[in-house]
Amino acid sequence: MLELFDKKLFPSKYSDILNRIKSFKPIKYGASRNYVNGSVSYLSAYISRGVISTKFILKTLLDKNYNPADIEKFIQELAWRDYWQQIWISKGKLINSDLKNSQFPVSNSSTPKAIIDANTGISAIDKSIIGLYETGYMHNHLRMYVASIVCNIAQSHWINPARWMYYYLLDADWASNSLSWQWVAGSNSNKKYFANQENINKYCFTNQKGTFLDVDYPEFQKFEIPEVLKHLYFFNLKTPLPNSDDITIENSLPTLLYNFYNIDPIWKKNLKANRILLLEPSHFETYPVCKRLLILL
Ligand SMILES: Cc1cc2nc3c(=O)[nH]c(=O)nc-3n(C[C@H](O)[C@H](O)[C@H](O)COP(=O)(O)OP(=O)(O)OC[C@H]3O[C@@H](n4cnc5c(N)ncnc54)[C@H](O)[C@@H]3O)c2cc1C
Repeated sequence: MLELFDKKLFPSKYSDILNRIKSFKPIKYGASRNYVNGSVSYLSAYISRGVISTKFILKTLLDKNYNPADIEKFIQELAWRDYWQQIWISKGKLINSDLKNSQFPVSNSSTPKAIIDANTGISAIDKSIIGLYETGYMHNHLRMYVASIVCNIAQSHWINPARWMYYYLLDADWASNSLSWQWVAGSNSNKKYFANQENINKYCFTNQKGTFLDVDYPEFQKFEIPEVLKHLYFFNLKTPLPNSDDITIENSLPTLLYNFYNIDPIWKKNLKANRILLLEPSHFETYPVCKRLLILL
């Protein structure tokens, strides 16, 4: 089942995943994580699919004698992931609508075509969207920039663009995804997140000028939607679910059910059991994912 991962960016051998955790540099992470080439862990795809847990990662690092205070930033990010999961568990489908405040202003419920086509004219953004399509990964800061352009500059409501991003992410996790989009859009936070071209240039090592984001921050308060973001794209995302296999159950054995959020390869490893991967169509109708996430399940 681990074969679903892109072999280069996300190796699928369990021993390679363990090595990635062991060789990760959590102190360097704190200082560099916001840069596009920062020392991030690239562990999210494994965490989201339940292959490894945040608890296990933290224990592995503490066993290497890192002082928790020195790796605080990384621990905080692991905690954010688990916190968003707990919000999903407690609020259920309520996270699919504005959680704390109504997003404002909203002028459309779609997504700018320039985002879908990776054609905003902001090179770092366009490159990151192409990267998302090609690899299933996008750096956290780029996710924030994209969500900010979509929700706070193009005034699109967050739900459909969040579905678009989730569809392509190998680390697709609806809690982290929807609640982060809402955080950027100000519906799950006290203020909207804005980034200007200068900020993007700094963290992405570009030197662009004259784009629609090349403004000082106060200008965002009275911002007109730029022409390039006015053309909208209405999509209908579908999960290409495989046909079911015939299931043979050995009645004398216990049955272990795996799902999209739990493909832990060492779960009750020594137990002789029926092991069934359940891909519930109703789940994937609400939260569609692209073929890359399912093709080799
Ligand atoms: C708009 C938007 C959408 C997002 N959608 C998803 C998603 O679908 N799935 C997902 O796993 N993460 C999502 N994130 C959070 C974050 O971008 C990714 O977890 C992170 O970029 C994954 O890369 P990494 O493993 O190298 O992370 P690292 O920076 O190395 O962090 C280590 C781990 O901490 C957790 N983490 C890090 N940052 C965050 C965060 N901001 N919120 C929650 N958990 C975090 C992840 O599990 C990650 O693997 C989203 C963030 C934004 C702003």
